Amino acid sequence: MSAPLPAAHATPTPELLQALKDAVGDKGWSDDRQDVAPHLVDERNLYYGVTPLLLRPATVDEVSACVRLCAEARVPIVPQGGNTGLVGGAVPFEHGGEILLCLSRMNRIREVDTVNDSMTAEAGCILETVQTAARDAGRYFPLSLGAQGSCQIGGNIATNAGGCAVLRYGHMRELVLGIEAVLPNGRVYDGLKSLRKDNSGYDLKQLLIGSEGTLGIITAGVLKLFPPPVERHTTFAGVASPEAALDLFSRAREALGDAVTAFELMPRIALDFVLAHIPGTRDPLAAPHPFYVLCEATATRHDLALADALNVLLEKVLEAGLINDATVAAGETQAQALWKLRESVSEAQKHEGGSIKHDISVPIATLPGFIGEASWRVEKLIPGVRVVAFGHVGDGNIHFNLSQPKNAEREAFLSRWDEASRLVHDTVVDMGGSISAEHGIGRLKRDELVRLADPLELDQMHAIKRTLDPHNIMNPGKLVLPG
Ligand code: FAD
Ligand code: ZN
Repeated sequence: MSAPLPAAHATPTPELLQALKDAVGDKGWSDDRQDVAPHLVDERNLYYGVTPLLLRPATVDEVSACVRLCAEARVPIVPQGGNTGLVGGAVPFEHGGEILLCLSRMNRIREVDTVNDSMTAEAGCILETVQTAARDAGRYFPLSLGAQGSCQIGGNIATNAGGCAVLRYGHMRELVLGIEAVLPNGRVYDGLKSLRKDNSGYDLKQLLIGSEGTLGIITAGVLKLFPPPVERHTTFAGVASPEAALDLFSRAREALGDAVTAFELMPRIALDFVLAHIPGTRDPLAAPHPFYVLCEATATRHDLALADALNVLLEKVLEAGLINDATVAAGETQAQALWKLRESVSEAQKHEGGSIKHDISVPIATLPGFIGEASWRVEKLIPGVRVVAFGHVGDGNIHFNLSQPKNAEREAFLSRWDEASRLVHDTVVDMGGSISAEHGIGRLKRDELVRLADPLELDQMHAIKRTLDPHNIMNPGKLVLPG
């Protein structure tokens, strides 16, 4: 899966490396093997890269100076945030000709504005730090995902991160009011506007959101804040099928409206994995069920009506046989225990051998059909494969993961990744879905995007890339391969 240094690129010279070091000062670079090593392997251990130099600039001017030097020398540059991305976008290629630039030292919260309900945070701020800063100001920043203790806000913007609260608050695209970024020629785009309404032409900010480091380096963002939820009701219900889960979803929306903040699905096999491998977890329901729904309803002021509406809903759906059993968390500790079951699925799956992972979305109504059809197809391809289809059902987003058959050879199973993925992605496309719901394209899905994207859309993406990055120095070989 290696790529050679693209023909248009130059190998970094000792002079360039020295100029880059001078641009960021002593604290701003490293070429120490041990220090650099964690930055060269991706979260899933799929890619091991090489770089002659890791840069850690502390200001936007330093980022700009570095990019300008690389652009002039035609040397590619890879931006990296918390390196928690799941598609191999933040790790350099094996050829060793790319400079790695980490944003971790740009970690200041520049401003919290409680009148505008916004926060200006530098790219290197850890997501959890941003959530805490919002809370300290009596506000709420809703982006929430398993990697929040280490992913960075710049990485979240660059990947258009989703997570567990998209249903109510939207993904990153909807949570960013403005952006500051260094473009591939080194110029600084100062788009740190905190406007709620701005209809003045093409939206460069939206182009940079989700661009995965291929159109520029994001150095700061203005984020939307919300009133904090003061009440939360977390329900864990056993259901017979994904169809029943979807029926429950519609009824929950009818009964509770916008209060439904999260609606997650997991199959029994996922719960079995969690119970077997994650210490301190227990099955919250008395008997096993084929699928489980984790539904969260929140209110931003104390609202007795919400608790009542939830109780009435649960009574009705139990009576109708739509759910088999359910538990509602009695307090924060129990709510966290229920969330832990859902959030530990990926971790637990690691203990079951190799897994081939997909992050797909389809129109919500077709989700049960997708799970059925794709499961049937992969089970035919790899007898004994264990389908672990879980995720953000309320957004039509399923992590359609495959665990190796019991007692199979890990490497032999993983060698079928492309074959299995093509089958799953073909099923997704047949159903009008997307091969990347929230993790992005990066390196892992680049060729699948070429295979499956609308040619017109791909042409336009290439045109945009060539316009903003004519020398293809910004994270080349990721997301798109401009012709
Ligand atoms: P990195 O991994 O460092 O980089 C990701 C991409 O963005 C790369 O292409 C990189 O070049 C680029 N990039 C990073 N910073 C910048 C910058 N400042 N400017 C320009 N480009 C940049 N994702 C979801 O969407 N939803 C989830 O629910 C979710 N859950 C996860 C759970 C776990 C346990 C893990 C490990 C990951 C999960 N992810 C999820 C994936 C990942 O956390 C997100 O993609 C996250 O937004 C990446 O942020 P990061 O700072 O780690 O970026
Ligand atoms: Zn997810």
